[in-house]
Amino acid sequence: MAIQSRNSSFQGKQYLPRVLIVARGLAGLLLAILLEHINWPYQIFERAEAVKPIGSTLALSPNILSAMEQTGIYEDLLKASVRGVGINLYNEQLKMIFSTGITTIKELSVYDYLVFPRPVLYDLLLAKVPKEKTAFKKKVLSIKQTDDEVTIHCSDNTSYEGDILVGADGAYSAVRQCLYKQLAQENKLPARTPNR
Ligand SMILES: Cc1cc2nc3c(=O)[nH]c(=O)nc-3n(C[C@H](O)[C@H](O)[C@H](O)COP(=O)(O)OP(=O)(O)OC[C@H]3O[C@@H](n4cnc5c(N)ncnc54)[C@H](O)[C@@H]3O)c2cc1C
Repeated sequence: MAIQSRNSSFQGKQYLPRVLIVARGLAGLLLAILLEHINWPYQIFERAEAVKPIGSTLALSPNILSAMEQTGIYEDLLKASVRGVGINLYNEQLKMIFSTGITTIKELSVYDYLVFPRPVLYDLLLAKVPKEKTAFKKKVLSIKQTDDEVTIHCSDNTSYEGDILVGADGAYSAVRQCLYKQLAQENKLPARTPNR
């Protein structure tokens, strides 16, 4: 699979750096939509056969909601949401240990604190990304960077080249682990903070 620049020029540049996004979670989809908006060449590589929107509720704070407006899903998300009015934290014995009201949050930040079903957000984001932009069953095992390009290697023995690699592959990111390994080999990691 080759990812092609769809524009021969953009803001005076003749060449658009190709973006490889690993993978198709919430972060990868959000970036993909923003790249779609500016007609930038990208491809998503996802290890799953198909992505199932799992999870129950999700809450989003005002700081990210302007990004939801940029993606064009904010109004639909608002319709599927309830507005948060406060946050209560409980310990493992279900004893409340902290409570705060957040009713003034909209006055301070323009947006409410929204609570909604996680699959709704996922489906709204998914609908904005063309299907052909995702290659499924592509588990990234390693990456290689040179001065000219970056290459990802997948578990099905395929490789793909691009100019920018974005590791959006979650908490146990293989991209990040590979990056650290490479930086360690090149002695470019900062010295560890001693244990206190
Ligand atoms: C119980 C729970 C409750 C949460 N509640 C909230 C909340 O209320 N509000 C909030 O903002 N956040 C919440 N979070 C956090 C939120 O879910 C995560 O921050 C968010 O899902 C991270 O998105 P992501 O795209 O970075 O990663 P993920 O959603 O984890 O997606 C990672 C993707 O990478 C793919 N992948 C992984 N490894 C590879 C590989 N090697 N090659 C190719 N693909 C790969 C996976 O298949 C997956 O599709 C919660 C998390 C949990 C667990």
